[in-house]
This record gives sequence, C-alpha cells and structure tokens, in this order.
Amino acid sequence: MADPTLSRLDPGDLPPKVLATLRESLLAHYDRSARDLPWRRLTDPYPVWVSEVMLQQTRVETVTDYYRRWMARFPDVETLADAELDEVLLQWQGLGYYTRARNLHGAARVIRERFGGEVPGTVDELRSLPGVGEYTAGAVASIAFGLPVPVVDGNVNRVLCRLVDVPRLTPARARSLAKTLVHQDRPGDWNQAVMELGATVCTPRSPSCDVCPVASWCGARASGRQGEHPAPARRARVEPRLYAVMVAADAAGSLLVRRQDDPGLLQGLWAFPAVEVAHASIVEESAECLADRWAEPGVFVRRSRRALRLPPVRHRFTHIDATYHPVLVEVSRPSGQDARGEDVRWIDPCGPVGVAIPVAQQKIVAAARAVLDEPDPREA
Ligand code: SF4
Repeated sequence: MADPTLSRLDPGDLPPKVLATLRESLLAHYDRSARDLPWRRLTDPYPVWVSEVMLQQTRVETVTDYYRRWMARFPDVETLADAELDEVLLQWQGLGYYTRARNLHGAARVIRERFGGEVPGTVDELRSLPGVGEYTAGAVASIAFGLPVPVVDGNVNRVLCRLVDVPRLTPARARSLAKTLVHQDRPGDWNQAVMELGATVCTPRSPSCDVCPVASWCGARASGRQGEHPAPARRARVEPRLYAVMVAADAAGSLLVRRQDDPGLLQGLWAFPAVEVAHASIVEESAECLADRWAEPGVFVRRSRRALRLPPVRHRFTHIDATYHPVLVEVSRPSGQDARGEDVRWIDPCGPVGVAIPVAQQKIVAAARAVLDEPDPREA
C-alpha cells in the first residue's frame, strides 16, 4: 500500500515509521546532491551567521563572492567588532539591504561585550542580538549548535504549502509544521535540506516532482495543485519618488558626497546631497538651491552658473521607486576648506572611492565622470 500523503495533515499525524522514512529520504537526497557552497558543512557559528544574514533576500550566486571577501577581511567576531562601520559598509557595498551589515557589526560588538567574543548558543541569546530574528536564530542554533529548532524562509514555506496541499499557511502554522518535521539528530542538515529542496527542486514556477525525494508524501503532487501553491502574496505598494541631486564637481573633477545620517535604509552610506521634488520640471532650480545652500558654509564657491542635467537614474527599493535627477554644478574649493566636518568628502570618480556608495549613486558617479572626461568646448 502506498504511504499516505500529507494533504491537510499535520506531519505528526503520520505513523512514526512513515515520518522517519520521509525524513531519511530527504536527508539522503541532500547528502547526495546539495550544492557545494563555501559555507556548507561548516559548524562554526560565526560563518554560519554571516552566510545566513547575507542570504536573506539575496541569491546564492550573488552572495558567494561577497561571503568569501567578507570572511577574508573579517574572519572572526573580534575582527568585525574592531572594524569601523565605514569599512563594514564598504565590504557590503552592492549587496543591498544595508541594515543587515549595520546589524552584523553592532551584534559583533554586543557579542564581544556580553558573551566574551563567542557567538551565543541558545535561541533566546541569539535573538537578543541586533538584527537576529526567528529565522536567523533558528538557522544558527540548528546548524552550528545542533539544536532541534525549525527555520521557515520563503523556500521552506513553499515546500510546506505543497506538502500539505494548502495555498497559504499562517507563520505560526508554518512554524509548527516545520517543528514537527525537523530531524532530531541532524536538525541543521534537515533545515538546510528543506531550504535546498525549495531552491533547487520545489521551485516556484516549475517544481521537478519527478525527481523529488518527498514526492510520495506530497499532497499537492497527489492533487495536481503544485502550481497553485503557495498563492501569490499581495504586492506591497510601491511609492514613486523624485529627487533633485546636486553633483558638485571641483576643478580637478572630484565630487562632493555626504554621509547619510538619517535613520533608514542608507544610514551610514555616502551619497550626493539631494532633495525630494514634486515634479521633474523643477529639478534644476532645486539642485541650484541646494548648491546655494552648500556654498554658504564655505564648502565651495560656484565656478560658473552652468548647471548640467545628467541622465536620470532609477532605483527600486522595497517600497520606493526612486528616480534621481542629477545636476552637475562646477565649483571651486576655497583653500583650507576641504570639507565640512567628517560627514563630507570629495571623492575621485576615477579611482577607488574608499567609502560605501549605494548602487544608484555609483551610476551617478559614472554619469558625472563621462561628462567630466569630455573636452570642455570653451577650451577648444
Ligand atoms: S513533489 Fe513536487 S510539489 Fe511536492 S514537494 Fe516535491 S517538488 Fe514540491
């Protein structure tokens, strides 16, 4: 007789032998075919924690190089705790969701102060660290410390919805299902095996049920509803926003950037001074106003009244669709007035900038560089 499927069942309702066979089948598949990733098979909590944080909302292919560079520069908690935030953000530059980097850095300092430099080994202690939620705590606790706790990310949620053949699960229900399924002796491998199954076999659009190690127990496969589960999430509202951006270039072509101090996505990163505007038609005058405001404290003087619009740059954040309208203004720096405190720098657009600049701002740097590289017709 065929094994019962999990359709609308709690895995705990399955006969223990059936549940054991399901677990062994998935683990055997994982042992055979898991992708060889640099953080795989590691049980040192620090690299496990770093890799899990990097992997949130980011593809494995993107993370691999960042992870290697990060571990080469910050091989342990102590090195990370000692580093300046500017350098941490620079290492993270391009990976997005910079709050993760700020939290890793903050958490390393907490670990040094409160836990003697050792990543703590209980879920509650892990969750007391900045930026560590249920998912990260569960992943580190199970993979590095062998605690039988579940993890639920997008991949796991999809696998669970399909196994029990329902379009959606509340977070509490998903966690309860995952908790019942977790392998007691190999919880870290189990959690990674379910995530890996979701990433490589039980994929969103075309699950490969024919090669799936848990197909025999899968409710959605039995009902043919794999493609319907999970039901699409309601899309978050994305707000369009326009910004006038002042790109001040001195005679040598250096560009002025300032550190973002507002709490938010880009806090601690470096960007061109900008102001939100209601309409693209007032971009130039808004950038001019910014230039006048910045000129006042003596950071620079305008070299010419020429203000040149650069191509707009669009960048999508989770809830914001931002369009930056950069305007290049030519300035001179009065001698002895290099910058206005530590939060302002002049960067050389042709060389290593040395501070973390978000991707959209890097595109503005490239656009400014292209214009500054052109011969000035007035000198012809
Ligand atoms: S049988 Fe298909 S739908 Fe079910 S878990 Fe496996 S890949 Fe996913």
